[in-house]
Amino acid sequence: MKSISDEPGISEPYLLGFLTSVGLDVEYTRAEGNTLFFRGEDGEEVPVLDAAGGYGSLIFGHNHPELVARARRLLDEGAPVNAQFSRNSCAQQVAALLSGIVRRETGSTETYAAIFANSGAEAIEAAVKHAELDRVLQVQALVAELAEHTAAARAAVEAGEAALPAGGHQDFEALAEEVSRANAVVGSRPPVFLTLEGSFHGKLVGSVQLTHNTAYRTPFGALANRARFVPLDRPSAVGEIIAEESAALRDIVVRDGVVTLVERPFPLVAAFLLEPIQGEGGIVPLTREFAATVRRECDAAGIPLVIDEIQSGMGRTGAFLASSLIGLRGDYYVLAKSLGGGLAKTSAMLVRSGRYRHEFELVHSSTFAKDGFSTPIALKVLEMLEADGGRAYGIARERGARLAEALEGVRADFPDVVKEVRGKGLMLGLEFHDQSESSSDTVRDGARSGLLGYTLSGYLLREHRVRTFPTASAGNTLRFAPSIHLTDGEIERLADALRAVASVLRDEDEKRLTGG
Ligand code: PMP
Repeated sequence: MKSISDEPGISEPYLLGFLTSVGLDVEYTRAEGNTLFFRGEDGEEVPVLDAAGGYGSLIFGHNHPELVARARRLLDEGAPVNAQFSRNSCAQQVAALLSGIVRRETGSTETYAAIFANSGAEAIEAAVKHAELDRVLQVQALVAELAEHTAAARAAVEAGEAALPAGGHQDFEALAEEVSRANAVVGSRPPVFLTLEGSFHGKLVGSVQLTHNTAYRTPFGALANRARFVPLDRPSAVGEIIAEESAALRDIVVRDGVVTLVERPFPLVAAFLLEPIQGEGGIVPLTREFAATVRRECDAAGIPLVIDEIQSGMGRTGAFLASSLIGLRGDYYVLAKSLGGGLAKTSAMLVRSGRYRHEFELVHSSTFAKDGFSTPIALKVLEMLEADGGRAYGIARERGARLAEALEGVRADFPDVVKEVRGKGLMLGLEFHDQSESSSDTVRDGARSGLLGYTLSGYLLREHRVRTFPTASAGNTLRFAPSIHLTDGEIERLADALRAVASVLRDEDEKRLTGG
């Protein structure tokens, strides 16, 4: 009888088939630092330089000894992992550290409250939900205030202390009824979220609507609220779109003895979300000027700004927050990836105290969030980042500069193949020129389908034992997110491998690329 384990590909068989087709279907058996190992046909371990760094979740590399020791001790000591709804002092310490770091880097005088989650997208959804709760509570307060004003105006009219406006309704109740109907129409409009073209904020039901990539987003458009995408190359669009998405309620008040209608801004935009360096969009740093425009326009309209530091945060760019390097301050921050030290799944969203709604704590939770395993690991990660006056940030900056220099060297040797090197610190990308006219069938077809980056990654793995990937939504850009322990030798190996890729593309060498 056939057992279930004989069935081919029960788990994502199509994806596995794709990985096989480009030579990326390797099963890794061990990991250490910036190296992954698989077993070759002779049973020997084959080391692979991991430049993809768990897509940015390994600021200290695979299985860092101090983090492994912490994890081991937790298990050896029988630490309670799932003890929901109890005091968790590690979570408190993590939250306090995160708040303190954000304050230090941004100069904020407010504290930041932390809500824990399990993944990046989940923490984005927590931020979205919190922003919506805040908006709904604002709307409720506004509606209650308007009702009070209407009652006061009604009383003034009945007492003969206020007149109805000339040329309008001569019956207060008819006026109140019309205003109430108009306000109900505005009040029932669903919220809108603003984000940027090229953005990636996750793939869950809500967060995928904030992810610009149409293949990910559009099949699920009916499931969640509307987002509008602001073009990155036109800062004036920020204000224009906010103006288009503005709405107002009518407030009935008495002014100088006359019943008067006053427009009150209605909060329709629940939040503006952005990445300070777009990761999946192709490693695209926001400019200081664009960031300042978003901050100014959000402040003017009372819109909270959610800064998604899931990929750029946790020290990778040379500061804890990449946004702090461009002088951008958020009302919310979202962190994940390296927060779990490569061992635990955890994420957190932080909310500035002036925006925080404690009501959220009673309506949002997860069985696994803020558990007794991930929070002590996160605490250890933060202690390691902050040790010796934040030495790790300096290393990320220095190693990043060295890596960027090496990548620029590749570009200088192959300017006809390599278009640009972008990013900050250890969040770097290398974009190739369009290859859709290549005489190599594999290169041309790959470029036209947007999958060439995967073919190049397969080549790098097979021929050079280097692991990297294209970014999710910009297939022409290879990503590099290694740990801060990246050595000069590893940088050299990576640069040599990329030179080989570039020469394959320059020579349009189908045979070398496919190994055929
Ligand atoms: N936001 C950003 C900026 C990301 O880079 C990612 C993951 N690549 C996410 C959100 C989603 O995180 P996760 O994969 O943990 O859901």
